[in-house]
Amino acid sequence: MRTLIALTVCLTMSMASANEPVSAAAPAASAPSIKPTLPSIKPSAVPGAAPPPKNTATLAREAQAEAEAEAELSAKIAARLAAMRAGQKARAAAAAAKARKAAEARQTEAVAVNTPPAPKPYPGEHWSYEGETGPSNWGRKPEWAACGIGNRQSPIDLRDGMKVDLEQIVFDYKPSAFSVVDNGHTVQVTVGPGNYISLQNRTFELQQFHFHRPSEERINGKGFEMVVHLVHRDADGKLAVVAVLLERGKAQAMIQTVWNNLPLEKNEVVTPSVVLDVNELLPVRRDYFTYMGSLTTPPCTEGVLWMVMKQPVEASPAQMAIFSRLYPLNARPIQANAGRVVKESN
Ligand SMILES: [Zn+2]
Repeated sequence: MRTLIALTVCLTMSMASANEPVSAAAPAASAPSIKPTLPSIKPSAVPGAAPPPKNTATLAREAQAEAEAEAELSAKIAARLAAMRAGQKARAAAAAAKARKAAEARQTEAVAVNTPPAPKPYPGEHWSYEGETGPSNWGRKPEWAACGIGNRQSPIDLRDGMKVDLEQIVFDYKPSAFSVVDNGHTVQVTVGPGNYISLQNRTFELQQFHFHRPSEERINGKGFEMVVHLVHRDADGKLAVVAVLLERGKAQAMIQTVWNNLPLEKNEVVTPSVVLDVNELLPVRRDYFTYMGSLTTPPCTEGVLWMVMKQPVEASPAQMAIFSRLYPLNARPIQANAGRVVKESN
């Protein structure tokens, strides 16, 4: 009990003032409260050793040691700060370099946007009447370049034709075997051999005919519900196309025969046992427009002689509706006339 009281008194005294002489047990408690990180700077505070009485010289040494320790600590802190600042600076420099690179990349992109991009390659082998593979893009495919850069393209708006006495087209058609195919672009009818047209001392044999909706060609800006293109070829391989415009009216017998034999699947060829007489499709009046143009589908080959019959032929709304269900729109837009001569029957 006496020991406990003595210890309590000692602890109380040592905490009351750091300047008071300390007991043998006290230095360990008083020193850490001042400089916890520098316990070695008080050579007098050796546990177990009796503290020598402090004179002025001792106090001066202690003060000096403390000052030195503080200076040492300050130096360490300064060094650490310097190291941290250097690290910060390096990180900032790295971030700036990164930002600069990103800015440069953005600038390159901006330049790329401002310079006209290289033409994209045409997507694939197929063509259509809309979107990426539509008429405005056909010419991007090198094999179909004429579709884009040709200046004798079809169809055109037929207007301001030179009214002259045009030679009559001699149609020499006869009832023929035929086959029908939906080729993915139109309904196409191939007729047997022996159907011809003649003009300018040349004879062209009918190869096939097919349909467009609406009509590709226009007359003085006016379009028609549909058109039939009768494609002929002469012995030299030159093409001549006769266009027969279709307007709404009574049912057309020859077209009905074709519709009766429409295939159920695309690219499936139906060869009926009946015959087809293409004469039935021709208008009564044989006046026509003529000009030099092209195929209206890729590869848009030019050098095609066009004859567009002036008088439309009637087909019934029901007949047109049947075609619409397969092809609501399969017409190439009007092409530039580009100074071509258009002649028409007087
Ligand atoms: Zn056509």
